[in-house]
Amino acid sequence: MALQFYNSLTNKKEDFKPIEEGKVGLYTCGPTVYDFAHIGNFRAYMFEDLLRRYLIYKGYQVNQVMNLTDIDDKTIKGSNAQGISLDEYTRPFKDGFFQDLDTLGIARAELYPEATTHIPEMIEIIKKLVANGLAYEIDGNYYFKISAFQGYGKLANVDMQGLKAGARVATDEYEKDSVSDFALWKAWDAEDGEVFWETELGKGRPGWHLECSAMSMKYLGEHFDMHTGGVDNKFPHHENEIAQSEGASGQKFVNYWLHCEHLIVDGQKMSKSLGNFYSLRDVLDKGYEPKAIRYLLISTQYRMPLNFTFEGLESASNALNRYNNFIRLLSDYSADGDGQAGEIIAGARKAFEAGLDDDLNISAALGAVFDYIRDINSLIASQNLSQTEKTIALEAMEGFESVLNFKREDAGVDNAEEIETLIEKRNAAKKNKDFQTADSIREQLTAMGIVIEDTPQGVKWRKKG
Ligand code: AMP
Ligand code: ZN
Repeated sequence: MALQFYNSLTNKKEDFKPIEEGKVGLYTCGPTVYDFAHIGNFRAYMFEDLLRRYLIYKGYQVNQVMNLTDIDDKTIKGSNAQGISLDEYTRPFKDGFFQDLDTLGIARAELYPEATTHIPEMIEIIKKLVANGLAYEIDGNYYFKISAFQGYGKLANVDMQGLKAGARVATDEYEKDSVSDFALWKAWDAEDGEVFWETELGKGRPGWHLECSAMSMKYLGEHFDMHTGGVDNKFPHHENEIAQSEGASGQKFVNYWLHCEHLIVDGQKMSKSLGNFYSLRDVLDKGYEPKAIRYLLISTQYRMPLNFTFEGLESASNALNRYNNFIRLLSDYSADGDGQAGEIIAGARKAFEAGLDDDLNISAALGAVFDYIRDINSLIASQNLSQTEKTIALEAMEGFESVLNFKREDAGVDNAEEIETLIEKRNAAKKNKDFQTADSIREQLTAMGIVIEDTPQGVKWRKKG
């Protein structure tokens, strides 16, 4: 089966055909750096990480661009409230974002352009839109005239019937029931404080939607393969990006639009405005390991809502134990039995790929991986695995791992056995109510840089850091 994705533009699954064979231009909307990202945001970035990694697994050369939204209503408000420059205000959130990506094992994009350094490109787009009769100016503000753009609403299925002619909206975010001419450029006013650019269109600042049109087309060309984000980005953000980009270039902007559903808590979208959010730091501070968060975020197919619970993190941790123990067991296997694994390995690869080829059906792919682990484990136990097969089995696992990135860094520690023996000794001491010995073993582990945690499922350990 061919690689297929559900395209939000056509509302159906389609075979993936890149514009240039073997290459993929991918634009992924990045964080608005007015605060630290919450784990709902990371669901979107994790879906994009899976997409990127699987395209690479399939042999594509991926050129991924992710913007940093450092100019919008929220960053401007924040910097003015604190009386510091926009750059000073956004810097810690930009740095925090990259740290969090590393913590979660999200592969870096090729480029992370920032809105603040792309104002001239935005001005050029506005000028083209004015020339094409698609934008107009009022008191130094420039608006996109949606009634003049054929096909406005095609991504988000906006009903243009109830549209009030000439209605305008100046804020960056608004709902579908206030579809209006939106701001491309906002003339400076007192609320913007120290944040403005002096340009040939006057003193002011760009609207959020324009930023993504400018940065995507600059680095990926006017027509490129793929654009992604969370479903909340569909309208108005992506709808407006299409209007601006196609209105300026006169050609199709993006072939495949992919949107992930939200991460939800108690039935509601996790968001800052609802106050029901956890940052990555919040979850780590509760003692959960980064890879368990990664596992939880990746393991629900991206077009299904993902319900966030701490129990979910517990079972993610157990799945990671199985995965990592298997790698260790297989790597240590030294017998040379008569090979019986050939079909199992080939079948697992096929099932893994069939799952992900089908619009990144990660549940099917993970099912294939864990079946594989179970089947090879039993061949290891009965020593019916040859050394040649061991090598091939490890290679298959490396392929899966390049997409999943579930291998714990500490799974590879040289002294894992020593650590586990100590933990067993501590368990025995606790059982005998010898708390002094139990405590001193814990101290010994701490000194080795190992954190242990007593959970209902038993003791868990990880490297400190
Ligand atoms: P923002 O920083 O608000 O611009 O959002 C960055 C990315 O996170 C966008 O792709 C959003 O669609 C996405 N996003 C925001 N909240 C959630 C959520 N609860 N679940 C999944 N994705 C989200
Ligand atoms: Zn964007």
